[in-house]
Amino acid sequence: MISIGRIRVMNKQKNKKTGQYLKRTKNADRAECGWCQYKTQTREHLFRHCKEWKPQQKILWGEVRKETGGGKDRFTVRDLFADE
Ligand SMILES: [Zn+2]
Repeated sequence: MISIGRIRVMNKQKNKKTGQYLKRTKNADRAECGWCQYKTQTREHLFRHCKEWKPQQKILWGEVRKETGGGKDRFTVRDLFADE
């Protein structure tokens, strides 16, 4: 599986606070997305659907494909964080 460290590095590229943000929301699915105001904020939303996170999603799923040969259709976001 893709390492959480790699994801953190990607987060840094966009926003230093994002890592903390993810940590804070790790086990809590907040009511509303802080990025695009989508009604439900989940990691699933951030890493697959959020339009504000498109650049990171592209990097993330690109890395996943490179490392595993599988993509978005094969893994859930939960899988990616399985080593946490
Ligand atoms: Zn969003």
